[in-house]
Parts: sequence; structure tokens; C-alpha cells
Amino acid sequence: MNHQEEEPQIRPRGKKVMLPHGGLPEVIPQYLLNLIAQTGGPDGPIGKQFVADPQSERAGFEGVASDPLIEDEHLAAPGLVYKYDAIVDEGGTVLRPGRALWTITYTCAAYCRFCTRGREVGVPAGYTWEGNNQPHSPHLSREQIDKALEFIENEPHLNEIILSGGDPLTVHPDVLKYVLWRLSLLQEKGKLDIVRIGTRLPIHNPLAIKDTHYEAVAQLHNPRLMVHINHPQELTPEALSTLDRFRRQCGAIEMSQTVLLKGVNDTPDTLVELFREIAKQGMVPYYLYQNDPVYWAHHFTVPIREAIDLWQQVRSRLSGVAATCRFVIDTPGGYGKVPIPEGNAWKVDWEQGFTDFNGTHFELE
Ligand code: SF4
Repeated sequence: MNHQEEEPQIRPRGKKVMLPHGGLPEVIPQYLLNLIAQTGGPDGPIGKQFVADPQSERAGFEGVASDPLIEDEHLAAPGLVYKYDAIVDEGGTVLRPGRALWTITYTCAAYCRFCTRGREVGVPAGYTWEGNNQPHSPHLSREQIDKALEFIENEPHLNEIILSGGDPLTVHPDVLKYVLWRLSLLQEKGKLDIVRIGTRLPIHNPLAIKDTHYEAVAQLHNPRLMVHINHPQELTPEALSTLDRFRRQCGAIEMSQTVLLKGVNDTPDTLVELFREIAKQGMVPYYLYQNDPVYWAHHFTVPIREAIDLWQQVRSRLSGVAATCRFVIDTPGGYGKVPIPEGNAWKVDWEQGFTDFNGTHFELE
């Protein structure tokens, strides 16, 4: 970590600066406040991710909370989005098994100002607004959890679950243990092949990770920990030691996810350092995402042409494990992720756009 002269600490403003529809209050744990103070304050690469900028975040608000991945339409059970369902041919052969995203909590230890799920993450309990009159509940109840597990167990050809944000590691340890135990039983029965856990807790607050977290995750067979890391300065000794323990004690396979963010990590040097460090520390650099078009995060978006140019510079400087990272864009309409061409290996046709592996055509801008 770069121990520059420390900035005076900020005081998180909580609900006062949450988005108009109720998402993303400004909540920052002490560990992260210290890191922000050591890395340039609110305008540094860590501070910008967590300190609210209400004017920029509200500029594009038009009365609805953005859902660019079209997840709400695909809700199949409590918290469970089943968008990538199985493809089975006429003879009954499974051409592609299904995978589902399951949100057991809408709470995180800190709220990233660019969060693609800011429509639902961090909304205070019972909060209503004119665009959505359903009282909000931050966690699934035991009954809802059991209902979703029943769906997972009985849905043919669904074989992969992605626990995602909110941050599943922030739930009560007993709940985490119960959910992962039930999923591990489904793995044992041969129903589930893969369970991924998307988390940012090792970055937001590694000090909050206790023995019970490791015990819960260790129940799974080959747990995949999808760790959201955006900047090399997030990889503090505390974060690295937590990640190391998940690998050693739980056999976790750790894969990184990074969002390309203007003013945070949009230089070749920063991204090269990040992916090299992730690889060196024993993790797999997995995805660099183009920022999703949610109204509260337009000011973080690197225009796509610049982003592709940047990626080509980064890609040419990565090798081996570090180069396994792919730059992906979520296609408009929630059709899935498409890797962006790299290193001039193939040309982008700006006039024609591109066609994904399902044959669906998209414009690039
Ligand atoms: S940790 Fe993930 S889900 Fe939580 S606010 Fe950040 S990006 Fe959103």
C-alpha cells in the first residue's frame, strides 16, 4: 500500500446521499475509511469508488431505477434470477446447462457508487418510493431461502449457482452456513456442478471476515470466490491474507472481477499492475467489465472506443496467467457478456456493430 500523507477522514453520510429510488447509501467501514485516507482521500482511486457525488449520480435520473441486465423480468424464485436457462435439443440432449444468479441479501459492507445493482442494493428496510411501492426487505427470510432452494433442486438442467450482490458474505454467519451447506448437499447429489460466490468483503473490510466465514465456504466442493477488485491499492496486506486463507483453508478458487472506471483505473499502467498482482497472488484474473449504463454511474464510464483502445494497450503487456483476463461488455437488453477483441487480433467494425455467439446483432454505441 502507498502510505502517502494521510487525508483527514470523511464521515459517511448514509441515507442522506442515497439515490432517489433508495439504493446505495454512503456506508464505508472504518478499515476502508483508513485506506481512503492513505490513498488520496475522496478524490483518490479508492475514495472515488465509495464517496458519493450526489450531483453526478442524480443527473441522469428519470424516475426509474436502471435494470440494464434485465434481471427483474427473469425472477424465478425469491432472489433468484434464472436468465441463462438450459438449452436442450429435440432429442433431449442438454446443449448448455442452466445457471442462475441468487441474491440472498441486498446488503454490502460498503456501497460502490457505480454498482450495476444499485436499483436494489442498500435500499433501507421498508423504504418505498413512487416508482416502486413494494416495501423493501434487505434480506431473504428463511422461508424464501428454502423456496429458492426447492426451485434449484427441482429445476431440470440447472447446474450452476452464482451467489451475488449484495454481498453474500455479509449475511449472519448462521444463514451463510445454512445456505452453503444446502448447496453443498446439492453438489454431493450431483445436482449442482458449480457454486460461485461473488464478494467484495475481502476488499471492503477484511477485518470483518471471521472463522465462521471460512467454515461456511469450506463446506462447498471447489468453491469459486469471485472477488471484485478494481485497483492495486485495494490489495492491502489484510486483504491478501484473507484471500490467502480462503484458498488454503477452503480450497477456494479465486477469480477476479474488475470494472473499468474513469478516474479510478483507466490507465494502462494501473490495469497492468492490477492484473499482474492478482496473478502473482495466486488468483485468476477473470473479467474486466465495461461499466454498465446505470443512470447513477454515467460519470464513471470510459467511452467504448477509448476502452477498447486502452484494453489493446493493456493486453499487449500481459502474459501468462495475467493475460487470461478478458474485457467484456454486457450486451444491451441483457443478452449476456461478449468479450471485446484484443490486441488487434481481430478488427472492430464500427459501422456494422457485432454479432454474438447466438447470432444476435448489436450496435457498438
Ligand atoms: S460490492 Fe458489489 S453489489 Fe455491493 S455495492 Fe459493490 S458492486 Fe454493488
